[in-house]
Amino acid sequence: MLAYSEAIAKVLETIWSLPPVEESLQEVRCGQILAETVHARYDLPPAATSTMDGFAFAHSSLNEQTPLQIAGFVPAGGDFKRPLDVAETVRIMTGAPLPEGCDTVVPLEKAEQQNNELKLTTVPDLGDYVRQCGEDFRQADQILAAGIKFDPGAAGLLSAAGISRLKVYPRPKVAILSTGDELVSLDEALPSGKIINSNIYMLAARLQEEGIEPLLLGIAGDCIESLESKLKQGLASDLLITTGGVSVGDRDLLRSALENLGFSEVFWKVAINPGKPVLFGTIGTLPIFGLPGNPGATATAFELFVRPALRRLAGFCNPLALRIKVQLADSVTGGKKRQRFLWGQLRVASENLQFHPAKRRRSGQLHDLLGAHALLPIAIDSPTLPAGSEVEVILLRLPDSQND
Ligand code: AMP
Ligand code: MG
Repeated sequence: MLAYSEAIAKVLETIWSLPPVEESLQEVRCGQILAETVHARYDLPPAATSTMDGFAFAHSSLNEQTPLQIAGFVPAGGDFKRPLDVAETVRIMTGAPLPEGCDTVVPLEKAEQQNNELKLTTVPDLGDYVRQCGEDFRQADQILAAGIKFDPGAAGLLSAAGISRLKVYPRPKVAILSTGDELVSLDEALPSGKIINSNIYMLAARLQEEGIEPLLLGIAGDCIESLESKLKQGLASDLLITTGGVSVGDRDLLRSALENLGFSEVFWKVAINPGKPVLFGTIGTLPIFGLPGNPGATATAFELFVRPALRRLAGFCNPLALRIKVQLADSVTGGKKRQRFLWGQLRVASENLQFHPAKRRRSGQLHDLLGAHALLPIAIDSPTLPAGSEVEVILLRLPDSQND
């Protein structure tokens, strides 16, 4: 059976980024990856400007014997029509451009106005309280490199640089299908022997974290006709996820249904727990993941395979989650015949980041998944890990408030 490292390598060899699209700055969403290097269209600031409300003048004209004459006022967004003469000054607002001939500003609180003359209480240095033209960036400077993630900082930089459209990788279109005769929809009555299709909501929420609103294909029964007709509805997406029907039972017909649609299998079954029966392959260029139905296994296989695949499609240069070293809060029994993955939370304790493994460790336990921040991989045949050991976890997200 394939090891996880071999299986994920096969996934990333099979999937490529979607073609970039051009979007307006309002359309681009946080988390999208830039597909081009961006250069500024303008200088920022576009002219030398005052950083304070005060008075602007040429530093060379300062002379204690000759008070500066106040020649006018420049508001923010305004303009002083003529160059300033020697021994002249102007009242200036924060953000207003310095008149020609000025290079220095004194703030109001360091100056006194008497009639039309300015008295300085301190002698400023040349260039005080002036933001120089192009101090942040110059026209044609590279302001963002291809491959960075769009965030509020990028939105600020791009708009200030006059960039209204840019090339980004699109968010993949994803379809999800649940399979199993035992499943009913959330808003239906629950007859005995049936179970609510919770996987579709749990996966939709994971996709939402990637900024993706999935196409929900509902439930297919455990028969070839039902599976085929539902699968066909997902073939126009960029990635198709199914849950259930990939084990070795008589009713596990997903592989056969996929084969009828031209499925080319890359792997089935990986030496992991939970999530062993995970299936991966393609129909044409469409990547398809058949996740096991058990919610714990579904979620683990999603994090180990599907999220990196989505990030590859979305243009991430390294789509694998970061691994970080943390302290184990409770002891954990050693490895078995397959690589195990434990869900858990990260907490700060006496300046250490600690990993608290979820208490119930069976693959069906939805509680393990609640509020999880990381997955702890436990190597095959590894010894018991005592509390306090340093371990490397796969980071899903960092807690950033008490609510986390
Ligand atoms: P399967 O992988 O099809 O053998 O399903 C294994 C078990 O996972 C089933 O017996 C169900 O209890 C559960 N299961 C399967 N699909 C879902 C689903 N969509 N939502 C919640 N539980 C599910
Ligand atoms: Mg099933």
